[in-house]
Amino acid sequence: MVGCSVAASSELSDCVLPYVPGLHAYTPGIQPVGPGWVKLNTNECPYPPSPGVVEALTRELRDGGAALRLYPSPTSAPLREALARVHGLEPSQVFVGNGSDEVLGLLVRCCTGAVAPAGFTFPSYSLYPVLVGIQDGAAVSVEFDRSMRLPVDRIAGSKAKVFFLTSPNAPTGVGFSRQDIARTLETFPGLLVVDEAYAAFAQEDAVPLLARHRRLVVVRTFSKSHALAGMRVGYALADPEVIGWLDRIRDSYNVNRLSQAAGLAALADAAYYDQVRQKIIRTRDAWYRDWTGRRAWFAYPSQANFIFVEPRDRLGRTGPEVARAAYDFLVSRKVLVRYFPSHALTASFLRVSVGTDDEMLVLHESLDAWLKAPPAA
Ligand code: PMP
Repeated sequence: MVGCSVAASSELSDCVLPYVPGLHAYTPGIQPVGPGWVKLNTNECPYPPSPGVVEALTRELRDGGAALRLYPSPTSAPLREALARVHGLEPSQVFVGNGSDEVLGLLVRCCTGAVAPAGFTFPSYSLYPVLVGIQDGAAVSVEFDRSMRLPVDRIAGSKAKVFFLTSPNAPTGVGFSRQDIARTLETFPGLLVVDEAYAAFAQEDAVPLLARHRRLVVVRTFSKSHALAGMRVGYALADPEVIGWLDRIRDSYNVNRLSQAAGLAALADAAYYDQVRQKIIRTRDAWYRDWTGRRAWFAYPSQANFIFVEPRDRLGRTGPEVARAAYDFLVSRKVLVRYFPSHALTASFLRVSVGTDDEMLVLHESLDAWLKAPPAA
């Protein structure tokens, strides 16, 4: 007899759903331990959060952490209300999650299955297919060409029930216009999730379209623009009906007390974050000009806090071997960027998160050293 609780002799593998052992977990960027690394590989904010965040966390921990005995607001209600005010929406249009990864996972759970495919573009955020796999769902991938322009018609014809569109896109940094997203909503019949993890660094976002389109979900995060990747706070803006689906399937207390306090305090200091955002954009644009101008490297114009750049070796060559060599050289200098070797559209490029001026200088000097180094045997 088969069944893990019945027959003492059954195999462990009989206890798991058959597809689970074949799943591939998401591959995050390396989080190095030890000092001395210049970490430009996971698009974190190079600057600390607002001092108000640390004050709020300290307040939350006063009296020997007595408040930690108590469960947090199950719905993150104060944070939903504050986010609604920031975006000019109703609290019923806001959902808060344990990082936007949780929000994306819940959306996949609501809408995806064997006969309800989820769609996404390639390249884009590589978590989406992992989430669909966890659900044993069907997936459709719509590939960009090298122009990275939005293939609106192919998304419309994709037959996906839900489509995840990253804008600005990762890893390219290319932002899609509100007009293109509106056209997608008009032609694609399913739920369109616009993952705006990097919207703070972009010229346009899709939030105003929520007023006209009930099938639009906008997903945001505090991880990049609000320097809170370590606290795990993300959110969705959508029609109250969609928010209701997410509330039915989330954990009862999905966002912990400290994270809710940190998110609220971050929202209260818009002036600080505006400065951080502008500084990151200035740094990004200066390095984009340097790489595409002086070095004559190709890079996609970025609307995010990273640049996707195609390095050229000292003989002027580009390609996967060149990108790999640059990546390896940088790692040997303790400079971490991200390399996506598995596809022709990405394998000649490196994705470089925008760091502080000092970090960018180390990167720049390391690239100069790479260009002067004798080719590997
Ligand atoms: N969406 C995109 C496009 C991302 O690049 C990331 C960060 N890896 C996320 C969502 C996840 O962000 P969070 O830290 O809020 O889970």
